[in-house]
Amino acid sequence: MDIPPSSLHNQHIEKKNEFSFRFGFVFLFVISVGLNIYLLYFNQKKDVVVASLPQDSEVVPLFELPEVYKKEVSPPVKTSQATRTAVITPVSFTVPSERKVEGKTIHSLNFKVRNSLNYSVCRIISREKGCAALSAHLGRLMAWFMDIKKGVRNGDYLEVVYQQLEGPEQFKILKLSYKSKLFGKTFEAFYFDEFDPKNGGYFDREGKEIAQRIVEAQSPIRHYIEITSLPGDFRKGMGGHSGTDFKAEVGTPIYSGFSGKVTRTNWNVRANGYCVEIDHPKLGIKTLYLHLSRVKVKPGQTIRVGQQIAESGNTGRTFAPHLHYEIQKRKNKKIIYNPFTFKHHKSYTRKIPSQHYPSFQKTVKLYNAVIKES
Ligand SMILES: [Zn+2]
Repeated sequence: MDIPPSSLHNQHIEKKNEFSFRFGFVFLFVISVGLNIYLLYFNQKKDVVVASLPQDSEVVPLFELPEVYKKEVSPPVKTSQATRTAVITPVSFTVPSERKVEGKTIHSLNFKVRNSLNYSVCRIISREKGCAALSAHLGRLMAWFMDIKKGVRNGDYLEVVYQQLEGPEQFKILKLSYKSKLFGKTFEAFYFDEFDPKNGGYFDREGKEIAQRIVEAQSPIRHYIEITSLPGDFRKGMGGHSGTDFKAEVGTPIYSGFSGKVTRTNWNVRANGYCVEIDHPKLGIKTLYLHLSRVKVKPGQTIRVGQQIAESGNTGRTFAPHLHYEIQKRKNKKIIYNPFTFKHHKSYTRKIPSQHYPSFQKTVKLYNAVIKES
């Protein structure tokens, strides 16, 4: 049987294309692996500059590198690499019993940031040991210093002292120090709670709190463990997070941030859980309170500022008990305000009370020593 010449011709072209495609792919793959090996192993010193990759201006990508890519570029753990990887080797030891943190095992890490916080931490600690959770904790704390979407740069230097709590992936950061190229300074946060064990927080070296608080009269919640997410938090998906999450025990009283009128309750319960929306026409905003355990108001009801409207809970799409508090622009709900910068919310930061200051200074010294010893 004769095959029409046009068909043969086509086949030939197809084969040729396939070949050049494969060749091109293999070529690019080899180049990319080579470049990454170069960057990882030979570009560790500060004075080595890769002309085509100006690290100073390189913005760290948000997304995770695909698994395959990671395997290719991760440095193998070999004894011959010991000297090079020494700087990022995790160190853990038990603090002597005469210290305040007696009996607790304290860990520390210090490393140069590469690609992203998550990527950097997961190069040192395995996924099984919770590197993703630890880097999420770091990101949460750092969100008070900068927009980590834009602020984290390759070559920034991070030190962290932390404690592994009971339960999987449970960490408590005791000290964070972040040397930022972009800001030209080192941000520091030390955990301290001796003055109020139920309401501890992170403080700078001078004893000024890192996180802000809304004044009690206007705060949707007065007792919470920590703020676990701020508006725009990229970990919550593409559009970012639309509210502020306050981690709190189920049943914590929830108050209206401003006077207004309840517009609706318990809509889209599958996602929001029990929830309340209050309209504040004078301020041009609406406030939303989600994942409640109990709603104490009805649509149409007039609300005073500071009036209790609900109890916090763990309903709807949540992983842990928390309040999601959201301030929306009234005429465009896509415009979200950060409660800590919103002009109608008064916020403040605490200072360590003077009688606890000497003890705080000791804590600072202790955590700094942990880093030095490692
Ligand atoms: Zn939320």
